[in-house]
Amino acid sequence: ISGVRERTLIAVKPDGVQRRLVGQIIQRFELRGFKLVGLKMLQVSEDLLSRHYSQLTGKPFYPDLVKYMTSGPVVVMVWEGYNAVQTSRAMVGLTNPADAQAGTVRGDFSIHVSRNVVHASDSPEGAQKEIQLWFQGQELLNWDCCYHNITCEL
Ligand code: GDP
Ligand code: MG
Repeated sequence: ISGVRERTLIAVKPDGVQRRLVGQIIQRFELRGFKLVGLKMLQVSEDLLSRHYSQLTGKPFYPDLVKYMTSGPVVVMVWEGYNAVQTSRAMVGLTNPADAQAGTVRGDFSIHVSRNVVHASDSPEGAQKEIQLWFQGQELLNWDCCYHNITCEL
């Protein structure tokens, strides 16, 4: 789905859930103008994680990443709207919180790369794969947002 219907996968990682940051993160995406089309809380399995992070399984930090990501529940969401992937990455900030700008989720709420609070898909193709991995089709809702044509020219 491209253009105004672009979708991206955002997840609040276990540290974000533990620190009660879920509400603030959701609020940022709502206020920015994106539309929530899927949301759930779950305990991630190692199998799901290895498919989600398939390019990282050989990295030296991967065992620690598994421990971190399976240490507690995550809240995973699909957000829809114009340029959702790129804009979300900008809202989330750079991978290493030390490099993330203030005003981004990571730049405001984290200090170390191993505990960076949130995940965001990094490309439209990646987003599509991740959404299919984390959600069943019927868990994603198509609903009419009353101000879709106010936040974005259709
Ligand atoms: P992202 O797309 O910005 O989340 O970054 P990547 O896809 O490159 O990495 C995925 C996740 O792996 C990051 O968000 C971090 O949680 C973790 N990670 C990446 N690099 C490192 C690292 O050097 N050390 C540790 N401990 N974790 C890392
Ligand atoms: Mg990534």
